[in-house]
Amino acid sequence: APVIWWIRRDLRLADNPALTAAVTSGAPVIPLYILDAQDNALGAAPKFRLGLGLEKLAETLSARGSRLIFRRGDAQEVLRQVIDETGAGSVVWSRLYDPEAIARDTAIKEDLKASGIAVKSHGGRLLFEPWTVETKAGGMFKVYTPFWKAVRDRQPADLLPEPGKLSAPVSWPVSDRVTDWQMGAAMRRGADIVRAHCNVGEQAALDRLDGFLEEAVARYKDRRDYPAEDATSNLSENLAWGEISPHRMWHLGQRAMAGSGKGAEHFLKEVVWREFAYHLMYHSPQILTENWRPEWDGFGWSSEITPDVEAWQRGQTGYDFVDAAMREMYVTGRMHNRSRMIVASFLTKHLMVHWKVGMDWFADCLVDWDPAANAMGWQWTAGSGPDAAPFFRIYNPEGQIDKFDADRRYIRRWIAEGQRTPPQSASSFFDAAPLSWGLSPDQMRARPLIDLKAGRERALEAYGQHRSAG
Ligand code: FAD
Repeated sequence: APVIWWIRRDLRLADNPALTAAVTSGAPVIPLYILDAQDNALGAAPKFRLGLGLEKLAETLSARGSRLIFRRGDAQEVLRQVIDETGAGSVVWSRLYDPEAIARDTAIKEDLKASGIAVKSHGGRLLFEPWTVETKAGGMFKVYTPFWKAVRDRQPADLLPEPGKLSAPVSWPVSDRVTDWQMGAAMRRGADIVRAHCNVGEQAALDRLDGFLEEAVARYKDRRDYPAEDATSNLSENLAWGEISPHRMWHLGQRAMAGSGKGAEHFLKEVVWREFAYHLMYHSPQILTENWRPEWDGFGWSSEITPDVEAWQRGQTGYDFVDAAMREMYVTGRMHNRSRMIVASFLTKHLMVHWKVGMDWFADCLVDWDPAANAMGWQWTAGSGPDAAPFFRIYNPEGQIDKFDADRRYIRRWIAEGQRTPPQSASSFFDAAPLSWGLSPDQMRARPLIDLKAGRERALEAYGQHRSAG
C-alpha cells in the first residue's frame, strides 16, 4: 500500500526525515500538498512565496519520475479521500510547532490511527525538538544565552542524503494545478517585482549556503549589521519553507568554524536564535497573540491603523532609514535584520503603536515570514518579550545611519527621491506602489511624522507611568 508524504513546510528532498522514512519503507510514495484553511489564510507575500516553492518542488519531483498532488479543502477530509482513492496505508509528515498546526495535526493523527492508518510525524524543521531542551530546574528557557550554552555542544542528527527513487503508485490520484490557485492574488503590488528577488527551491538554497560559507562567513561577525552589505546568508526565506534544513547550516557551519572561526560561530548563534524562537512559541504559544510579559497589558499602545501607521507601512515617515527599510521589504519581501529592529522600534516607541500592528504587516509582506521569529522579534524590540530588551532602548533612526550606513548606500538603494538617476531598486518601489497607493517619486518627500526627541520623551514618559501604576 502506498505511503502519503504530506508536505507542509518541508519543500526539499535531501535531509528530510519524513520523506526518507517514506522512501525507505519500500512502498510507492504519494507526495501530497493540501491548501487548507490555515495556509489559505497566510499573508499575501508568504502565500505567494509558498506557491513559488510548491511549483519548484513539483518540477523537481516530476524530473525524478514522481508527482506532487495538489488538493484543497479541510486537511483531514482530503487525507481521508486520498487514502480511499489510493488505498494508502500510512501517512508521514514533518512536524510544525505553532498551536494551530499542532491542534490540527493531533486531531488528524488520532482520527487516522483510529481507522487503522499508520501515522508518523518526524522532526527536521528544528535542530533540537523544543521539549528536549530544559533548564537545570526542568523548565523552559526564557533567556537566550543559557539556551545557547545548553545546546552549543550538542550534536544534532546527522544529515540525510537525498533518498533514492520515489516509486510511483499504480495510478496517481487527480490533482489541481497549483497555478490555478493564484497564490499571488493578494499581492497588491505586482507579484513579478517581488518574484525577481526570490531565491526559490532546494538547489538554489544549497548553492546560496555554499557561496556564503565560502566567502561571506569570515566577515559575518563584523559586517552582519550593515544593511547595504551582502554579509548574511539570506537563507531565512528557504528555512521558512523548508527548502533547506537547519541541520545542514549547523553541520556545514561547524566545518567552516574550523576555517573561519568567529564568523561561523556567530552564524551558528543566529541559527540558534531561530531555535530559541521555536522553543518560546512551543512552550508559551501566547507569544503569538499576547504580551509575553503580562505587566505590559494595558500599556498605552494604539492598535488603530491611523494615517501615521499607513505612512510607516508605505515608507513615508520622513526618516530615511525607516523608509528605506519599509520599501526594501515591499519590493523584495525581505528586510535586513538591523532594519527590522529599527522600524519595529520606531513604530512601537516613537509612534506608540502596538507591536501586533507591525507584526501583522510583516506577516503580509515577508517572503521569509515565520510565526515564531516574527513574534519574538516584535516582542523583543517592543520590550514586552523574553530575554533582556528593555523598553528604554529606543533606536534613533538618524543615529543608526551614522553607525550602520554612513555612506548612505542602503538609503540610496531604496529611496529614489532626491537622486537624479536613482538605481533600479529605488525606482522599482514606485513601479510596485501605484498598484496599491498611487505614490510617485516626484511627490514631495514626506515631512518627518514626529520629532525624534519628542517621540522618545513621550514613549519614556508613558513607560514610566505604566511602571509606577503597575
Ligand atoms: P543570517 O544572519 O544569515 O542568519 C542565519 C539564520 O539564522 C537566518 O536565516 C534565520 O533563520 C536565523 N536568524 C537570524 N537572526 C535571527 C533572529 N533575530 N531571530 C530568529 N532567527 C534568526 N526572521 C524570519 O525568518 N522570519 C520572520 O518573520 C522574522 N521577523 C522578524 C521581525 C522582527 C521585528 C525582527 C527584529 C526580526 C525578525 N526576524 C525574522 C529575524 C531576522 O531578522 C531574520 O531571520 C534575518 O534578517 C534573516 O536574514 P538572513 O537569512 O540573511 O540571516
